[in-house]
Amino acid sequence: MNQVKIEQFGEIEAIKLGYGPIGPPFMSVYLYTVDGLVIDTGQRHMQKSVIDLLDKKKLQQVLLTHHHEDHSGNASAICKQHHIEACGHPLTVKKMATGFRILPYQRFIWGRSENIRLSTLGPAVESNRYKLLPVHTPGHSKDHTVFLEETNGWLFSGDLYLGQRIKYFRADEKIIDQIGSLKKVLKLDFDALFCAHNPCPQNGKSKLKQKLQFLEDIFGRVQKLKENGLSKKEVFNRLDPKTDRSIKLMTMGNVCFANMLASAYHCK
Ligand SMILES: [Zn+2]
Repeated sequence: MNQVKIEQFGEIEAIKLGYGPIGPPFMSVYLYTVDGLVIDTGQRHMQKSVIDLLDKKKLQQVLLTHHHEDHSGNASAICKQHHIEACGHPLTVKKMATGFRILPYQRFIWGRSENIRLSTLGPAVESNRYKLLPVHTPGHSKDHTVFLEETNGWLFSGDLYLGQRIKYFRADEKIIDQIGSLKKVLKLDFDALFCAHNPCPQNGKSKLKQKLQFLEDIFGRVQKLKENGLSKKEVFNRLDPKTDRSIKLMTMGNVCFANMLASAYHCK
């Protein structure tokens, strides 16, 4: 059963989209609209709902936090519908122009994004009333970018946060880069964290701080065991709680806790 829910956070409209062909959605994703800007575009499987919901709005520009298919899935359709452009980090531009491979589970849960020719983000994005500053935050993906609205203290954070104690990590994520990106973002001034899977309208900064602590703790523990001469397998045996088995199986190992340990182990 598909799910669509609209949540209002002051001026910001959050559209929650869940695709569930054989029961409740396995996972949902948010896109945000504010003053003609659309931040991320949801999954392709929910394209009809997205197009219908945005139909009456006067849109000016689409912004992508990164290329992943749950964020970029409807960029092309929205831009065609409203005759507007979409923008992203130069690496997002490249990915979306050529297209990228996704695994069967990703095709099942989200669907494949259409290729689109994006414009490269400038130093700031301006709507009539707001100014958003793009901040490059690699780690979850190389192209990952968040958008800061300083006056109101909003951070559109894509997949930078997700949760304080994350249980899953993609095989291509880099923990050390995520730690660096979290430190960079924590120097900025904001309170509301508009995460693409878990909006936190208040105390966003303390939530990000807790995530940073969690990642630093994992990183430190892995490095210490490595220094003590433990192999990667021994580190996994020591630290992997193995509570992620169904997800690990379904994603063929692409998403699991051990990927975070491996990413920490391979850092010098
Ligand atoms: Zn992502």
